[in-house]
Amino acid sequence: MATIRFTAMQEVLNRSSLKVDPPSDKISEYFGNCVFNKPKMQKYLSKEAYTSLLASIETGTKINRKVADQIASGMKAWALENGATHYTHWFQPLNGATAEKHDAFFEPDGNGGVFENFDGALLIQQEPDASSFPSGGIRNTFEARGYTAWDTSSPAFIIDKTLCIPTIFISYTGEALDYKTPLLKSLNYLDKTATEVCQYFDKNVNKVIATLGWEQEYFLIDEALYNARPDLVLTGRTLMGHASAKDQQLEDHYFGSIPGRVSAFMKDFEFESYKLGIPVKTRHNEVAPNQFECAPVFEEVNLAVDHNQLIMEIMRKIARKHKFRILFHEKPFNGINGSGKHNNWSLMTNTGVNLLSPGKTPKNNLQFLTFLINTIKAVYSHSDLLRASISSAGNAHRLGANEAPPSIISIFIGQQLTKILDELETRVSDKKMTPEEKSELKLDIGKIPEILLDNTDRNRTSPFAFTGNRFEFRAVGSSANCASPMIILNSAVAKQLKDFKQEVDHIIETKKIKKDEAIFIVLRNYIKESKKVRFEGNGYSQDWIKEAEKRGLTNIQSITESLKHFISEKTINLFSENQILSKRELEARYEVRLDFYVKKIQIEARILGDLAINHIIPTAINYQNTLIKNVKGLKELVSDIEFEQIAGTQLQTIKKISEHISSIRMNVKEMVNKRKVANKMEDIIAKTVSYEKEIYPFLSNIRYHIDKLELIVDNAIWPLPKYRELLYSI
Ligand code: ADP
Ligand code: MG
Repeated sequence: MATIRFTAMQEVLNRSSLKVDPPSDKISEYFGNCVFNKPKMQKYLSKEAYTSLLASIETGTKINRKVADQIASGMKAWALENGATHYTHWFQPLNGATAEKHDAFFEPDGNGGVFENFDGALLIQQEPDASSFPSGGIRNTFEARGYTAWDTSSPAFIIDKTLCIPTIFISYTGEALDYKTPLLKSLNYLDKTATEVCQYFDKNVNKVIATLGWEQEYFLIDEALYNARPDLVLTGRTLMGHASAKDQQLEDHYFGSIPGRVSAFMKDFEFESYKLGIPVKTRHNEVAPNQFECAPVFEEVNLAVDHNQLIMEIMRKIARKHKFRILFHEKPFNGINGSGKHNNWSLMTNTGVNLLSPGKTPKNNLQFLTFLINTIKAVYSHSDLLRASISSAGNAHRLGANEAPPSIISIFIGQQLTKILDELETRVSDKKMTPEEKSELKLDIGKIPEILLDNTDRNRTSPFAFTGNRFEFRAVGSSANCASPMIILNSAVAKQLKDFKQEVDHIIETKKIKKDEAIFIVLRNYIKESKKVRFEGNGYSQDWIKEAEKRGLTNIQSITESLKHFISEKTINLFSENQILSKRELEARYEVRLDFYVKKIQIEARILGDLAINHIIPTAINYQNTLIKNVKGLKELVSDIEFEQIAGTQLQTIKKISEHISSIRMNVKEMVNKRKVANKMEDIIAKTVSYEKEIYPFLSNIRYHIDKLELIVDNAIWPLPKYRELLYSI
């Protein structure tokens, strides 16, 4: 009988790619068609409603009930015209996915008919049952209600005949149960403190937005092969599989020509994304076989986060249409690169200035240096929290492996900028500068754009790299919600800018010196204080690990250790001072993360045990029996002396198989026992430690023996698709 694996392979061979024809060659003709964006607002809203909504989008002002009714009515008209039958509040609970509960537009009219209804109350707020979303103990079972409330800063859109309204999600008692609530608060806070600092340089600045351009990596696997791998189906990664003879060693996949089936998939999901106003711009093959990347043009952070969540959903759906499954897991395959989600981050003023881009004048460049150095200081001060924000069971495979930055948070700024910071550090002192010294310093600062222009420095081994006009946080996991690291980065930089302003003002006042000089002094101090976090060398090397230790930088390997920083005193102070997250909310988030880790490892351990005992061992025994039969036959045929020579290696193999089988059995048994102990633990921290330290190591122990068996056992009866098939069959 053919194994599922061979049937699956046959299916793959028979596949042809789906033809995709976007309705027009010009993207501009359908871009944003399914979004209730400004042009549509203008068309469907009264002047009063439009102005009020615009004010709310731009400055966060409240919308009154009467106007909300008007907006709802305009939105409804637009949605119905575009074929929508349902509406939903669309939010991002802490399980990392997006959530929606659709309601039809109609209401019974009392006479046996219905009419289409959607009013301001339904637009502004709803009360979904929150009981099945993770809350980290915040939600009481007797009060399971949660609220969703309209986020006017992210436009409504239509997907699959449903009008989706982006919302925040909070508990009955007002605590955040999602990513968006603290994200919006952190953005507001950053706007406030960054604008104040900008005022030193330009009085016209009254708003600063943070920008995010994410780069999303992913794998594609044929649906038939995926379905033949229960580990992939349940966990998103392969828990076994010997390395393929060829994987990424020839480096022939990166930027290679995109396979036809994949290209059809890309065009299709890009088309859907354009209709939703997601500016996906770049597509290419990534390093590992079957690995790809897409990246949009950057947008305001909140919108970029929504778009990333949305596109992941779209890609999942469209992949199915093309008989693929998409893997967003950080490490689907051992031994080859995993996937990340680089977060390119910067700050932009209402006057159109990128604050992390050097300008044309010394003044602009002092502003640039101010934001650059404050960001470095903020990342240095909160590196452990930043590390915690990207910690997950999946990302644990990447950080520290030789393909992604280590778990040490360091910053790369390039040779040229390093030189400039070094100069500032030595040339500025607490003493008053002479006019000559000052103008010389300014002259040097004025030269920054020239030297950065030909600065082609790229350091792919740094977790947090300056790339000419933005920082790129490269350690984020591919399946993560970008909001998690963005909340931390925004808040840390916001707080840092606030401290900076206070210090500068204090020096101006007490020392009676000019603003520029005070800024130089504070920046000089920051350069000194945060110097340790700057690293220009190879982040993948062993030397760096030693060097970082000498510098006193933390290198947190363990999830349990890392997540603790969510509730450290420093974190609680950072967030409670500006009311982004309360202590209780932080504790809840910490608990949700721990709980998630436990569940993920639990599922992996269970399915691996199941596959080992019910798929692999029976197959190995099967093959062993064939060998035994063969050996018995040989014995009948030949003399005893000849038998030794002929069947010697066969006998060894039979023995080897038995050894692997008993190792697998023993390990699975022990793993199950450890799980039983851990599952009884009431304390979630102890339970997580137990899963990380006691149970997790069994996964690789068991895998080792299975992978060895894969090399021994007859290919024709091996039940699961092998790495070479999973990775080389598109
Ligand atoms: P690379 O792979 O070389 O890092 P990509 O072009 O793949 O570059 O991705 C760069 C990302 O950085 C894009 O999403 C781009 O829009 C984004 N980006 C560029 N400028 C900014 C900025 N000022 N703020 C945020 N993101 C930015
Ligand atoms: Mg990049």
